[in-house]
Amino acid sequence: MTLIAGDGIGPEVADATMHAVNATGVAIDWDRVELSAEVIARAGQVLPPQVLESLNRTHVGLKGPVTTPVAGGFPSVNVALRKKMDLFANVRPVRTLPGVRTRYNDVKIDMVIFRENTEDVYSGLEHEVITDVVESLKIITRFASIRIAKYAFEFAKNNGRKQVVAVHKANIMKLSDGLFLRCAREIAQEYPGIEYKELIVDNAAMQLVMRPETFDVLLLPNLYGDIVSDLAAGLVGGLGTVPGANMGEKNAVFEAVHGSAPDIVGKGIANPTALMLSSVMMLRHLGEEQAAERLQHAIESVYQDATHLTPDVGGTASTTQFRDAVVAAVQA
Ligand code: NAD
Repeated sequence: MTLIAGDGIGPEVADATMHAVNATGVAIDWDRVELSAEVIARAGQVLPPQVLESLNRTHVGLKGPVTTPVAGGFPSVNVALRKKMDLFANVRPVRTLPGVRTRYNDVKIDMVIFRENTEDVYSGLEHEVITDVVESLKIITRFASIRIAKYAFEFAKNNGRKQVVAVHKANIMKLSDGLFLRCAREIAQEYPGIEYKELIVDNAAMQLVMRPETFDVLLLPNLYGDIVSDLAAGLVGGLGTVPGANMGEKNAVFEAVHGSAPDIVGKGIANPTALMLSSVMMLRHLGEEQAAERLQHAIESVYQDATHLTPDVGGTASTTQFRDAVVAAVQA
């Protein structure tokens, strides 16, 4: 397996996750490759060859966050990796862990976000038309829209989910979001057992805050998927706990929703739960169902116990104290 620890809090949460996965007894040969803002700057290329070489060999990666400079500098390595490896589906299960105090403790939140991962305004096609006028291209294709819609509906069917909501702004972007929506409708026809609904993205944001318990599976183009993921993470206690998977036909890279968290880097308080839960998804993908169950139960039991939680979810424990509690629970 390829391990990309990333930068910022990445190495801290990756180290904790590696310990937790190893504690399950699964024999994983970790191929650790460096990928960070510093490595990229030094290499002068966004995707250093050793990263691609490793992923092309293993086809499975666990990845920490990598910093992207804002309003300048090199383009996002995360976006580049997803495109290069054709990781077209970004899957993000959002649910409240036992014992985490949130503003929504009186409702059950359990939704899965399917974000198209390769196009939209993340095409990176921007240019200055004339001085002080820039254009950013939003690319939506039938191919990618059908592919992500199918992926979301297949998941819904195979996991007993009842409803898929497509989120869009096709009232304004009639062509681009309109195409995304038409593809979603077309695929919905093939799944009569699953209720299909549509919500305009601004309304979806409000409904998510007002009635998060009514959401089941969400299907979104890239940008709305990105924003809605963080919003949804906020409903269940923050970015420290929400995992994710970037899925392709041949390759899969598992990573948390969160970024490199520069405000807490080096303080020893980063919450590794999101990456640990991403590794649970990874173990399932590898067919290591028993290890996945053990790790998931261990994490949940540490939350239930609530004495070794990190500050972002109301505790006082450090990353390593949380890690050790999970490892002990796995081995109990
Ligand atoms: P962020 O997700 O890094 O942090 C947002 C807030 O959540 C911060 O207050 C942070 O402390 C907190 N947080 C995030 N993860 C946490 C964790 N595991 N435990 C405890 N608290 C946590 O978002 P940002 O600050 O907007 O972005 C920072 C950098 O990360 C940017 O360069 C951005 O481009 C990059 N980023 C990378 C990825 C990725 O690699 N996939 C994803 C998102 C952002």
